[in-house]
Amino acid sequence: MDTMILEIMKDISVKTESKIVLIVLDGIGDLPNEGGKTPLEAATTPNLDRLAMNSALGLLDPIYPGITPGSGPGHLGLFGYNPLRYWIGRGVLSALGIGLEMGPNDVAARGNFCTIDESGKVVDRRAGRIPTELNAKLCEKISSAVKEIDGVKVVVRPEEEHRFVLLLSGQDLGPHVSDTDPQKTGLEPLAPQALDKDSEKTAKIVAKFVDIVKEVLKDEHPANMVLLRGFDKLPHIPSLQELYKLTPCAIASYPMYKGISRVVGMEVLKLEGHGELLEEKMTLFEENYDKYDYIFFHIKKTDSYGEDGNFDSKVHQIEAFDAVLPRILAKKPDVLAITGDHSTPCVLKSHSWHPVPVLLSAKYLRYDPCERFTEREALKGSLGRMYSMQLMPLMMAHAGKLKKYGA
Ligand code: ZN
Repeated sequence: MDTMILEIMKDISVKTESKIVLIVLDGIGDLPNEGGKTPLEAATTPNLDRLAMNSALGLLDPIYPGITPGSGPGHLGLFGYNPLRYWIGRGVLSALGIGLEMGPNDVAARGNFCTIDESGKVVDRRAGRIPTELNAKLCEKISSAVKEIDGVKVVVRPEEEHRFVLLLSGQDLGPHVSDTDPQKTGLEPLAPQALDKDSEKTAKIVAKFVDIVKEVLKDEHPANMVLLRGFDKLPHIPSLQELYKLTPCAIASYPMYKGISRVVGMEVLKLEGHGELLEEKMTLFEENYDKYDYIFFHIKKTDSYGEDGNFDSKVHQIEAFDAVLPRILAKKPDVLAITGDHSTPCVLKSHSWHPVPVLLSAKYLRYDPCERFTEREALKGSLGRMYSMQLMPLMMAHAGKLKKYGA
């Protein structure tokens, strides 16, 4: 069904002047605390409340009821793709997220610097979360020691803290190589295994790479070894331009979200890293609003505070968003949707399967009796409960970007 929908979208979508804004408060869905309220319920949000009264609300299942989504699949759903059909490997997301170009023959993996003891066993999978500056130095050290292995180009680039990206470019590289990360301490890093015949060459190169790196890092502390996971190639995913004739952009700061935005064809606007992040994102939004007809605006901290179990800070983050909402509304987008990519309840300190509230604001809309944008108010909403991937056609329709289907 879902591939058929994408084909239909391609046929009936039209280029218009109207503008769609999608705001993703990462991990926004939550559960009540001891006081009986979720962060959305506990937050003071006069602007969101006013908007909710003139909007249609509902609940989204990011993937399928009961399935706890990662942020990658969670976002693919919001961008209109069936996350069970389309998959983007972690390595690819990281590589694109830090701005590396990937060709169809390239294989990317995500790496961690880690600490091993004299017997070779992992004692810290994140090497004490070394600072990004040290990470960059170590990546340079590795890069000058190994540029190529058996004709395959090797690129190593830092991400944040202990994380880096490994990019292999060459012929006949299959992407299906097992992780070398044993996922717990007290074990040695695992040998990379080819998971199919096409990936045997890749596994060999990776094994050689790991041996070289072990030698290069042997006198370093605490980062004296690396762990690799999430090997993958660039998947073919039809872009938002191709499917919906949109000119889309993304305002996001975390590499993974920038990566996924690029995979679906969005232009990722550059944050300079000066000043307060939300303020900088707002400035970027205001400066670029006229150039695009689809703007994806991502806020990460709601999820981070959920993961930390920090209820109060999640509430404050929601209130900070509420404070800038009038500036978004001032641009009068034809369609505005506010939702999350999944729930991250503070009591669970992790992502969860609970459906996520969604708010849709547009001119031609049956607005609901909902008085606030919260999990429980959304139950009264006319959007009911749907899959995240169904939001995209709805946004398109409300923006007047879909022709009639059939005569
Ligand atoms: Zn997320």
